[in-house]
Amino acid sequence: MNLRKDFIYIILAYFTAVILIVIVNNNRFTIFLVLLLLTYHIYSFLEVRDKITKDKIFFERSLISKLNKTKRESEETYRRFTSLSTTLGSGIIIVNDDGIISFSNKDVNDYFGKDYNNKDYNSLVGISQLYKFVNQAYLLEKSMRDQIEYNNHFYDLIATPLIEKKLFRGCIIVVHDITLIKTAENFQKQFTADVSHELKTPLSAIKGFSEILDRDKNISEQDRNEFTNLILKESTRMETILSDLLIISKMDRLDYELEFSSIDIKEVLIESSNTLSREIGKKKLNFNIDAKSCICLLDKNKIGQVMINVLKNAINYTDEGRITIKGYIDLNNYVIEVTDTGIGIKESNYDKVFKRFYRVDSTRSRETGGSGLGLSISKNILKKHSGDISVNSVINKGTTFKINIPIKK
Ligand code: ADP
Repeated sequence: MNLRKDFIYIILAYFTAVILIVIVNNNRFTIFLVLLLLTYHIYSFLEVRDKITKDKIFFERSLISKLNKTKRESEETYRRFTSLSTTLGSGIIIVNDDGIISFSNKDVNDYFGKDYNNKDYNSLVGISQLYKFVNQAYLLEKSMRDQIEYNNHFYDLIATPLIEKKLFRGCIIVVHDITLIKTAENFQKQFTADVSHELKTPLSAIKGFSEILDRDKNISEQDRNEFTNLILKESTRMETILSDLLIISKMDRLDYELEFSSIDIKEVLIESSNTLSREIGKKKLNFNIDAKSCICLLDKNKIGQVMINVLKNAINYTDEGRITIKGYIDLNNYVIEVTDTGIGIKESNYDKVFKRFYRVDSTRSRETGGSGLGLSISKNILKKHSGDISVNSVINKGTTFKINIPIKK
């Protein structure tokens, strides 16, 4: 409705009426009545115009306030979504129906080294497996799940189509970094395979010797004794492996806790040497211990076990010479050095000897009845004390294992 135009037409209509009256009969009273009507008409017209203007202003204001509210709400939703997406710990990619990445969070940038916001999803082509996945999710418009590998990391991808009023509006892709889970999974698989292998060897030996003893009734007394001793030796080895595995599985539990008490470390060193004094004597090795007293908070049994593992190795891998234990305080640490004059360890094997089931010479380790788990258990125990263990060695000259334990009172 155009008010100004209507107003002009009305004025023109009245003006024409007055002219006609003047021309036809020039009746002043009629002219007066027409002008009166015109005044009333103008008054009503102005009233209506005012009301329409007020309604218009009111309507505009309420529309603006509604728009502002909706804008604030959508900004708040976006803010919540972005802060959620940063704290989520997973990557999020949203591809709209035009194939543009309308949202890609910081985790995606961190995983794939680039900001993909507002780029065509074809820009993912450099990460071929991810691109293939997004391309399929976008073209097939359906939910999908897959795992990919990129830069030595593993990612779990989940795609969900965004449907609005039965129309495809794009898709959302959630990216989880599953490298740790995958590594743990592989580690677990490898560990299970190693355990089976380790147990299989003594078990086969036991089975073989038992079968010979059972089959051959005329076996000589000497052979019989030899086989019985071998069965005993292999079963003891199995027992050692199983009890070490039990220790590992206990320590791997999340609720595992050390039993701390105030102990003089020197006492632990002397007690563990006493436990092995017979073995030291049997091999005619010289033995010397020189340790300072130091009262410290630690798990006595566990540190004792570390000492026995390291000392047992020193005995097993030393054919002649001596073993010495030194214990001293260095700043906030109690340092224990166990030195032998044995076969030594190559520098390239320094790290490996702390790995589960690693042996430099498996025949010799088997001979000594070792499980291949002693040093890895020791390292784990020391880690739980916030300490560490390292090795230094010269082939055919000897080895020193150095243990650091932070002194806590
Ligand atoms: P094991 O039961 O085989 O001794 P450990 O975990 O205690 O297992 O040790 C791992 C490997 O480290 C041993 O098999 C051995 O090859 C090497 N090793 C450990 N201590 C010594 C040492 N004092 N001298 C030489 N080699 C050692």
